[in-house]
Amino acid sequence: MPDLPESAEVVIIGAGFAGSSTAYHLTRMGIHDILILERESIPGAQASGRNAAMLRRIVGLDPFGLLCNKGADRILGQPESTHQVERNCGSLLLCSTNLRRQFDQIVKQQEAKDSPCRWLTPYESTDQLSILEGSHFDSALHVPRDGILDLQGLLHFFLRGARSSGCRLFTSTPVLKIRSNRKGVHKIHTPRQTVETRKVINAAGAWAGQVASLSDAFPMNIQPFRRHLFRLTPGPSQSDHLPWVWDLGRSFYLRPDTGGWIASFCDEDPHLPCPPRVAPQAAFHLANTLTQHLPLARELSVDRSWACLRTFTPDRQPLIGPDPKLPGFYWSAGLGGHGVTTSHLIGELTARTIMGQPLEKPFDQFTPSRYR
Ligand SMILES: Cc1cc2nc3c(=O)[nH]c(=O)nc-3n(C[C@H](O)[C@H](O)[C@H](O)COP(=O)(O)OP(=O)(O)OC[C@H]3O[C@@H](n4cnc5c(N)ncnc54)[C@H](O)[C@@H]3O)c2cc1C
Repeated sequence: MPDLPESAEVVIIGAGFAGSSTAYHLTRMGIHDILILERESIPGAQASGRNAAMLRRIVGLDPFGLLCNKGADRILGQPESTHQVERNCGSLLLCSTNLRRQFDQIVKQQEAKDSPCRWLTPYESTDQLSILEGSHFDSALHVPRDGILDLQGLLHFFLRGARSSGCRLFTSTPVLKIRSNRKGVHKIHTPRQTVETRKVINAAGAWAGQVASLSDAFPMNIQPFRRHLFRLTPGPSQSDHLPWVWDLGRSFYLRPDTGGWIASFCDEDPHLPCPPRVAPQAAFHLANTLTQHLPLARELSVDRSWACLRTFTPDRQPLIGPDPKLPGFYWSAGLGGHGVTTSHLIGELTARTIMGQPLEKPFDQFTPSRYR
């Protein structure tokens, strides 16, 4: 394995979507002397490679909701997007009448953007996705420009772009300590070598709080939550253009996967920052949720299950930008359940703060100093 360089202009901790996209955007902004240090033996080994891969643009009216909307546009607007999107299949968001009122404003905004969505009756929804037959819901928002992303395709697009412009990635290289002096960040210690740097980006996902504690940075309250995913079989025939479905009131989702379905009952248990195990009762909870609300799901059985961590700040908005206490320490963390959809934009916003540009409204609410 090659030695780490003695110094780098920027060191990024974590090769998930946050770290890889930030590296990509920094190289586009003219910074090339970048190191990405990743503890695992491959990039994207944690949440970024183990999630449900849904591109979901309609999430809410808060700044993070807006980030999802713009982030989805950013991914689809790239000329390379054909390699990053697995399926342009659309989605169905099942809503109660109350929820529908909340979403109406976003639907109008989408129309103004020439990216229309449409409310469907249960009957029309079942026509699109027959597994909804027998399910009781008031209406479904059909979002044609949602889809399913190619996780490896998108992650490697960022990494390839960054590495072809000088960025170096070192896997199996955990950061153990971040030393500072009077001017701020100074040195990064790993089990292999020590690297001098003036700028470090904490893109460590569920471990972001732990990484901050290796330094003199502000101790942010960052909480990982475990969520289970299941692959169910048999799958629908001709699944390529079937939309994925998310029941927003009763909190479950189901998305077609070749020869099966990927499903979740949207669980959210606080968890330590370590790879989570599958809970013994998880499959029972899934079966309970699905059979209660989707009678046809009785025909499905669990083929595989896994769990990974979604990571949140207390206000559920991400942390992007300079640490309020330690000069040279930057955050790109707390991406919650939409870190793939938002990845392109998150990386760009993080990179801009490293270039010394403040975040514009409403994304200025992601600034870490809000917790000071
Ligand atoms: C079950 C589930 C389903 C999801 N579904 C979707 C979805 O459908 N659509 C969507 O947009 N989002 C989804 N998400 C959210 C998305 O997966 C995350 O928001 C995103 O992957 C977070 O990326 P990240 O780069 O911040 O974290 P990670 O991918 O966890 O990357 C952080 C990296 O930092 C490394 N690291 C940690 N500590 C150190 C250290 N000390 N030294 C070196 N490296 C270190 C880790 O090894 C890791 O690789 C889902 C999440 C879960 C859990």
